[in-house]
Amino acid sequence: MLYGICSDIHSNGTAFEAVLHSMDDNGVDRRICLGDLVGYGVDADECVQMAKENMDICLIGNHDSVAIKYESSVGFNPYAKQAIEWTQEHLSADSLSYMKNLAFLHEENDITFVHASPLSPADWIYITDLEDALDAFDHFENRYCFVGHTHSPVIVASRPMAIPKILDEYEYSIVDTERLLVNVGSVGQPRDRDPRASWCLLDTEKKSVRIVRVEYDVFKTQERMRKAGMPDFLVERLAVGR
Ligand code: ZN
Repeated sequence: MLYGICSDIHSNGTAFEAVLHSMDDNGVDRRICLGDLVGYGVDADECVQMAKENMDICLIGNHDSVAIKYESSVGFNPYAKQAIEWTQEHLSADSLSYMKNLAFLHEENDITFVHASPLSPADWIYITDLEDALDAFDHFENRYCFVGHTHSPVIVASRPMAIPKILDEYEYSIVDTERLLVNVGSVGQPRDRDPRASWCLLDTEKKSVRIVRVEYDVFKTQERMRKAGMPDFLVERLAVGR
């Protein structure tokens, strides 16, 4: 089975469209989105509808949770707050009801899918270093766990009786006894200084994972954001992937 796993679309319809094409080109059988459909960008309703039409499973992210008013925007920086308030005014009833039915975690085929961390999914814990990864490995039973939330793709491998290892490469053949924790990066707002959209291809037969980067027309997305009056900081960061 070829899984296409993506996360953190953040209302960037042009990037999402490019990723969906890339999944098709790679023959993906099953599409999973790890959440944060909205926030930061201005294609909110479009992105929710694209997820509804194209994803087999979609989970909820922290920005989605604020957008549907499950929790407040306390803790958001002023830019994120401005964008989410804009989002709350631009979601259709249909998109709202779709988002209200999204789960925090999904498991199938020896894989755990979650937006932030398998450790207390609704608390939006960031996995940013090896210590966080160690904690995370203790909190899922399956062989693989896929997360998003930090907007930086990374593959972490764990062998029995050894400390997990952060891998440098974005393409990896899984060794028999290994378990993997994979951050799939962000579709709509990458922050690893690579502005290209990111998603992850998992081949459960060949036992391999690959972080796929996809170029898209950043300028088009920026233009729509400027027109809608989004802060310059949010517009400009897309071009540099930060
Ligand atoms: Zn996010």
